[in-house]
Amino acid sequence: MKRIAVFPGSFDPFTVGHEYIVKRALPLFDKIIIAIGHNASKANYFPESQRLEWIEKIFINETKVEVVIYDGITVDFCKSKNAKFILRGLRNSTDFEYERGIGQVNKALWQTIETVYLLTLPEHTAISSSIVRELVTYGGNIRKFVPKIIADELMKKKEKKERQ
Ligand code: ADP
Repeated sequence: MKRIAVFPGSFDPFTVGHEYIVKRALPLFDKIIIAIGHNASKANYFPESQRLEWIEKIFINETKVEVVIYDGITVDFCKSKNAKFILRGLRNSTDFEYERGIGQVNKALWQTIETVYLLTLPEHTAISSSIVRELVTYGGNIRKFVPKIIADELMKKKEKKERQ
């Protein structure tokens, strides 16, 4: 049976931290579905369609990766995709406390689901979508924090704006 994992998140935007979690998880699964969901406690910054396009471009050569937008309960989405694993990344103890709650609730909702947590690299611990959003808002350099495709596009937009 195929080992399918869902990597759910807001990815607003996708960072090098997210990218590295996917890359490290690739040998563990036959397929990884990066699932862009709506986090009820976070407002959207980049449109979902934009986030989807960026992530698809990043993994264009990776046949094991699929990118989708979903809504509703994550375990219901996993069932619909026949995915028995959820992939999440952990940066620090705050992430751990948050993830423990979600992981335990998901397990209570569907006994079969297993959440697999990968610890981030030390150099990625400080990277978050919210820091990137802040930098974008105030015109900071985001190159170290997001994949090249996203950085190139956003920096181009910034330069265009500065020329106007
Ligand atoms: P959510 O809104 O569901 O928390 P995020 O897009 O913020 O979605 O994060 C998705 C997953 O990626 C979460 O498990 C989060 O802990 C993890 N993550 C976020 N940033 C990093 C990072 N720099 N390194 C590793 N994992 C990360």
